[in-house]
Amino acid sequence: MVVARCLGWVLLVHQTLLVAVWDPSKLPPSPLDKSEFDYIVVGAGSAGSVVASRLSEDPNVTVLLLEAGEVDSQTEIHVPLAYVDLQLSPVDWAEQTVPQKHACGGLEGRRARWPRGKVLGGSSSINAMIYVRGNREDYDRWREMGAEGWSYREVLPYFKKSEDFRGRGDDEFHGTGGYLTVSQSTQFRTLAARSFVEGTKELGYEEVDNNGRSQLGVSFPQYTIKDGWRLSTARAFLHPVRGNRENLYVVTGKSVRSLSFAPGASPTVDGVRVVDTKDCANGEEKVVKARREVILTASTVGTTKILLLSGIGPKGHLEDVGIPVRADLPVGENLQDHIMVPVGYVAPRIPINETISLSEQHASESGRGTRVPGHWRRGRENRPRFRHHLLRRKSRPEAHEEHQRIAGGGTANVWRGSNG
Ligand SMILES: Cc1cc2nc3c(=O)[nH]c(=O)nc-3n(C[C@H](O)[C@H](O)[C@H](O)COP(=O)(O)OP(=O)(O)OC[C@H]3O[C@@H](n4cnc5c(N)ncnc54)[C@H](O)[C@@H]3O)c2cc1C
Repeated sequence: MVVARCLGWVLLVHQTLLVAVWDPSKLPPSPLDKSEFDYIVVGAGSAGSVVASRLSEDPNVTVLLLEAGEVDSQTEIHVPLAYVDLQLSPVDWAEQTVPQKHACGGLEGRRARWPRGKVLGGSSSINAMIYVRGNREDYDRWREMGAEGWSYREVLPYFKKSEDFRGRGDDEFHGTGGYLTVSQSTQFRTLAARSFVEGTKELGYEEVDNNGRSQLGVSFPQYTIKDGWRLSTARAFLHPVRGNRENLYVVTGKSVRSLSFAPGASPTVDGVRVVDTKDCANGEEKVVKARREVILTASTVGTTKILLLSGIGPKGHLEDVGIPVRADLPVGENLQDHIMVPVGYVAPRIPINETISLSEQHASESGRGTRVPGHWRRGRENRPRFRHHLLRRKSRPEAHEEHQRIAGGGTANVWRGSNG
């Protein structure tokens, strides 16, 4: 027990140090003063962290990665079990939809909460970590519609290159040795989950690898979790290269308000207009130029907003709100989202119903905090008690102290890392 506790602390201190070591202020000084880069990537989320990491593999180009949120130093980001606590916290944009005509009938004002990550790693730092690739037929349809290089056959090698698969599945669809660990813990499969899978099979459905040959069937999920810790794309693709890529500049706490355009009749993007996130509405803009490309990876909502504010969008709508039109395009239309219907029930026996010490739970890969609430693809059977458990943890003074130590000195200075 003592050994486990010590080991737990060693791992936590190690993790905290990793966070502390990557302080963007230690990157090359004042990146924004440089004011010209080959590539500017906007938004360090699921997509942006990967794109910036891959582009900067070429030492001959400079890459600036701009992120509106701060460094991913909050403990709850890294402990899988704590993920539900991240919503409505400072790492969530915490937005709401407008009232819906055809959905959200059971919600107040017919509005849904729309969580999105606002931190290094973006939504991959706050999501449920279930690793699900797009459906083969979608990729193939995009290819048929003209997107060269996007058929499933063509994207599969990149999925495999990225992956370090630690589970059991259809081998020809998985890779090993890549940056992104995909794991499949069997430690916390509840009786309910196992019964569901077995019951579904009795009804004639096949148990499948949902990132393999077919996504039709029933499966236990695969997770972007490495050795018991969340593996956001920032953790997978940026942290491992920090300090050894002189050409990669990562700046947090800065928001891109709009694109900047080269003078001339046809609009050509030549950079971005950046403000401090803290002072997004009134802050002074700085223009940073891109010699080659600006890549918008600020999420479905963030990218759309940047385009609209740059005058790229439906003419009528832009005119209504007084934005000069540069290109009349259907930006922001055809947004599709999946509605989630959680089915909750009380389980007579649950594996987690007591206060967990953050220091001991990560003593091994099978620590209780490594469990994802709703471990089973279609269930979130433990969530009510889990909430209770977290509240209880936070209400204990000694646990609060422990949390402060892990998070690097308390909630007030966790959000460091703004520079430039
Ligand atoms: C609570 C939750 C649970 C989820 N669970 C799962 C799951 O289990 N499995 C799964 O496959 N998917 C899940 N998803 C969805 C998945 O996480 C997202 O689809 C994916 O992360 C989107 O990636 P992205 O790169 O498009 O955007 P994001 O990862 O959201 O990244 C966008 C980044 O851009 C930054 N940004 C925005 N505007 C600006 C600006 N103006 N200037 C600078 N930076 C800006 C944001 O702060 C953010 O960091 C979940 C999402 C949420 C919110």
